[in-house]
Amino acid sequence: MADCIFCKIAQKEIPSSVVYEDENLLCFHDLEPQAPVHVLIIPKKHIASLDAVTQEDAALLGGLLLKTGEIAKLLGLENGYRLVSNCGEDGLQTVRHLHFHLLGKRKMTWPPG
Ligand code: 5GP
Ligand code: ZN
Repeated sequence: MADCIFCKIAQKEIPSSVVYEDENLLCFHDLEPQAPVHVLIIPKKHIASLDAVTQEDAALLGGLLLKTGEIAKLLGLENGYRLVSNCGEDGLQTVRHLHFHLLGKRKMTWPPG
């Protein structure tokens, strides 16, 4: 999608520090890490948010969740981690391309801010 920063990252028009990639997914380090490990996992397909997901995306998203555990192992998050997807205005989503924050290597707090 034109003017989507994460589409541009997925297409390598904007550089990123890639952790994992396959035909459907890209995982790269967040520009402003909020934990010692903070990566973003995105589908390469442009989907605006969890709110915009359809039945057609079931296999894609199932595959993404399955891969998340593998990526966590790859990053050495054996002590646990947090997976977050901010959605819409109340969720404080700033980039309107579906993404999951994978955060680890520090003790998280609850409730989140
Ligand atoms: P959101 O606020 O939508 O949940 O998360 C967007 C995330 O994308 C933020 O954590 C922000 O730091 C990250 N981000 C925004 N622009 C870029 C970029 O150009 N490159 C990378 N690697 N991360 C970005
Ligand atoms: Zn996009």
